[in-house]
Amino acid sequence: MVPPLALDIDGTLTTPTGRIDPRAFELLPAWDAPIVFATGKAFPYPVALAHFLGREETVIAENGGVAYVNGETTVVGDPDAARAVVEAFRERGGEIGWGDGDTVNRWRETEVALSTDADEALLREVAAAVDDVEVVDTGYAYHVKSTGVSKGRALRVVADALGLDPAAFVAVGDSENDVSTFGVAGESYAVANADAAAREAADEVAGKGFMDGTAAVLASLRERAR
Ligand SMILES: [Mg+2]
Repeated sequence: MVPPLALDIDGTLTTPTGRIDPRAFELLPAWDAPIVFATGKAFPYPVALAHFLGREETVIAENGGVAYVNGETTVVGDPDAARAVVEAFRERGGEIGWGDGDTVNRWRETEVALSTDADEALLREVAAAVDDVEVVDTGYAYHVKSTGVSKGRALRVVADALGLDPAAFVAVGDSENDVSTFGVAGESYAVANADAAAREAADEVAGKGFMDGTAAVLASLRERAR
């Protein structure tokens, strides 16, 4: 039997230019165990990915702020504190950096994400003055979120709802927001493009980056399950 998976999306199932790698549509629909899509993106993104892969919509969004499993939504974290930080950041001249439409934040329930073009030093300075809020750099955005909210904590909730031991999961990811997942899953892999925190936390670093690395991990897991 192949193991259940906890998969990050950006940097892990994507190409270097941020597109979903087409191999995701070959490898994941047929995976014969639960897959949890665990992302920093807002709730609709992983739901849509699972939907169009023909998988159960079992997702962790907003770095653990929102979890969805068996039709149940769990929301943790305090959006007010994160929003207050971003408000103060704007008052001091900071810009979120997504332009007018801002679909990045439109459906966010627990955190606020800023473009990596945003003034990181100012953001961190403003955030440091507010209790129980932290800034996480996923390589794709700066996320202002409650401390204590994490993908790993959400994975425990999801695994419990699925009747699985969190340690049964194999996790794959690429950045500091995956470190908590790596700590909860029984086995963890950082893809070769991963940041230092993810590389350090993972049991193994894949030889290749992005979906090349993830596909190799999946192939080895499938081989082992034979
Ligand atoms: Mg990622």
